[in-house]
Amino acid sequence: MSDPIAFIDLAAQRERLGSRVDEAILRVVNHGGYIMGPEVKTLEADLSAFCGAKHTISCANGTDALGFVLMAKGVKECDAVLCPSFTFAATAEVVAWTGATPIFIDVREDTFNLDIASLEAGVKTARKLGLNPVAVIPVDLFGLPADYDAIEAVCEREGMWMLCDAAQSFGASYKGHKVGSMGLATTTSFFPAKPLGCYGDGGAVFTNDDELAAVMRSIRVHGQGSDKYDNVRIGMNGRLDTMQAAVLIEKLKIFPSEIEARDKVAKRYNAHLRDIAVVPETPEGYTSVWAQYTLRMAGFDREQFQADLKAAGVPTAVYYPKPLHQQTAYKGYPVAGNGLPVSERLALEVVSLPMHPYLTEAVQDRVIAAVKDAMVKQRRAAAE
Ligand SMILES: *Cc1c(COP(=O)(O)O)cnc(C)c1O
Repeated sequence: MSDPIAFIDLAAQRERLGSRVDEAILRVVNHGGYIMGPEVKTLEADLSAFCGAKHTISCANGTDALGFVLMAKGVKECDAVLCPSFTFAATAEVVAWTGATPIFIDVREDTFNLDIASLEAGVKTARKLGLNPVAVIPVDLFGLPADYDAIEAVCEREGMWMLCDAAQSFGASYKGHKVGSMGLATTTSFFPAKPLGCYGDGGAVFTNDDELAAVMRSIRVHGQGSDKYDNVRIGMNGRLDTMQAAVLIEKLKIFPSEIEARDKVAKRYNAHLRDIAVVPETPEGYTSVWAQYTLRMAGFDREQFQADLKAAGVPTAVYYPKPLHQQTAYKGYPVAGNGLPVSERLALEVVSLPMHPYLTEAVQDRVIAAVKDAMVKQRRAAAE
C-alpha cells in the first residue's frame, strides 16, 4: 500500500519556498521591530496591489478582522446582522460580541453560499423581532465568492451594508473583480490551512472607505488617537506580528501560481467524478481558490464512504457537520423565515477531499479511484 495522502500539504510548499521564508523571519529577528515593523507596511501595500483595495489593515486573525468592521460601524444591541448558518462559527461570533443579534440565513445547495430569498426573509424576521437589520455578512464558502451583486441589491433596498467574510476566498474573483474590492469591507484570514496562510494566526481587512480604514487602524491599537496616550475609542490589541507579515510577503509571491494549481486539481477532480458524484461547479463569471473541494453525498452513507477512503490512504473531512443555528452557543438566535432546510441537509451530505496546490496527478488519480470504488461499492450493496 502506498503512503497516506496529505489533506493539506504545507511541507511541499515549504520545500518549494526553500530558504526564502527562513531568511525573511531571520531578518525580523535581527532588526527587532517585532511589533508593527517595516514588513507590516510592505505586506499591506502588497495585499492592496494584489486585490485592488484602497486600504489593507492587517490584523491578528480573521475573527478580529470581522470584529474591527462591526466595532468601527458601531453595531449595537438593537441591531441585527444577517449571516449564513452553514459557515465557521467566527462569522456569527463577532456579531454576538457587539451585543447585536445574528440572524441565520439559509444557503444554496449548488454554491453553498447565501440564498437571496432566505436573506429577504431574514430581513423580515429581524423587523418582526423589533431589531434593526444593519448588515449582511456573506461568506465565500470553500473559496467561491457569494453572489455579491444580488446581495448588494437587497442591501441597497433595505438600507444595509455588506461585510464580505472572505476568510476562505482571498485570491478568488467575481465578475472580473478580485475578492477584497467589493462591499463596504472584506475580511480574510491567514490561518495556516487557508489558501494564503502564515506560520501562525493572521488576518486582514480590505476597504475603499478612508474614514472606516482610519477608525479600524485606531481600533487595532486600543483605540489610539493622534496623541498616543489619549485613546479616543474602545479598541483592542489586534495587530499582525511582523514575523507573520514577513512570511506572508514571501508566500504572496507564489500565491498566483498556487491558485492556478488548485484550480487545475479541482477541474481534474470534476472531470473524473462528475458522472458519479455531485461535484462543486463554478458558476460562469466566478473563480474559486478551492479552500475546500467538497462533494455532496445525498443518498450515500457518508461515514462508510469516509471509512473506505481512509482505508485506501485518502483523508477526508466534513465542513461543517453542524450548522451554526443548531450549535449550543447559537441555537437561541433567530433564523430566517420558517427555517434553514438546506443548511441542515448539507451538514449531513458534504464531504471534502484532499486539496492543495502540490497534489500530483498520480496522487489525484489515487483519490479519484478511491472515491469511485467507495461509491460503486455502496451502489452495488443498495442494488442487492
Ligand atoms: C477561518 C475562518 C474565519 C476566522 O479566521 P481566524 O483567522 O481563524 O480567526 C472566519 N470566517 C470563516 C468563514 C473562516 O473560514
